Amino acid sequence: MTMSITHLGTGSRGNSTLLEAGDVKVLLDQGFSGAQLEKRLNRMNLKPQDIDCILVSHHHGDHGGGVAIAQRKWNIPVLANERTALELNLDPMLTKYFGSLDLVRVGDDLSILTVPVPHGDSDNVAFVANYRGERAAVITDLGSWTDELVKHVHGCQHISIEANYDEKLLDHGPYPYSLKERIRGRGGHLSNKQTGEFLAEVCTENTRTVVLTHLSEKNNSPHLAESTILYHIGDFFSGDIDISLQDGPEKTHYVNADIHFNNEILN
Ligand SMILES: [Zn+2]
Ligand SMILES: [Zn+2]
Repeated sequence: MTMSITHLGTGSRGNSTLLEAGDVKVLLDQGFSGAQLEKRLNRMNLKPQDIDCILVSHHHGDHGGGVAIAQRKWNIPVLANERTALELNLDPMLTKYFGSLDLVRVGDDLSILTVPVPHGDSDNVAFVANYRGERAAVITDLGSWTDELVKHVHGCQHISIEANYDEKLLDHGPYPYSLKERIRGRGGHLSNKQTGEFLAEVCTENTRTVVLTHLSEKNNSPHLAESTILYHIGDFFSGDIDISLQDGPEKTHYVNADIHFNNEILN
């Protein structure tokens, strides 16, 4: 049994990622309405009640907006840092708190490291999961990165990371100047170029899959994101590059480095 990652959808209108390891099912973020979560899980023959817990990266609505609903409606336990829990008004009876660089254990064999990343007014974290030596990173919403993040993501078999905007499209796009500055800033989002530079630092021959997430619908396109990333890592990276858009789930990515295969979700 290998660990798997399925993005239920990523982008400014909602993010949630299903991580499965053995019998354990974890959601990383829940930025969808209850009905949307139900619908997206249903496409994988799952129900919200099948989820063991939700880890929340930060309090922005597209990542945490549906967490309180999931607690109230289905009693799903939630893990978040204190700032995020406070901002989202989470039920203290159903919430556990993690700190920076905590190793959160779920079940017998899965552990998830919480690595702080700079992102505006939030206490955002990236997640690095380890299941019997298989390592997968899920990183989103950061304006820049730290040496610490590089250290923990280096050599992961699976890396999901945002590629939010193309620099030229953002420059010439419709957003007001102040918003453009915020997106470009240290606390904003990663451009395709920055994501390419980060991946060039962390991808090794162990890395089998890179999934680009949280693409801006106004300031990016899948082919620009993919070609920019390939420009930075194409010389040495021989794995797969996939893209997760807003309306998932699209694919399940199996982390096991030896048996790598993708299941298309047909319905
Ligand atoms: Zn955010
Ligand atoms: Zn976001």
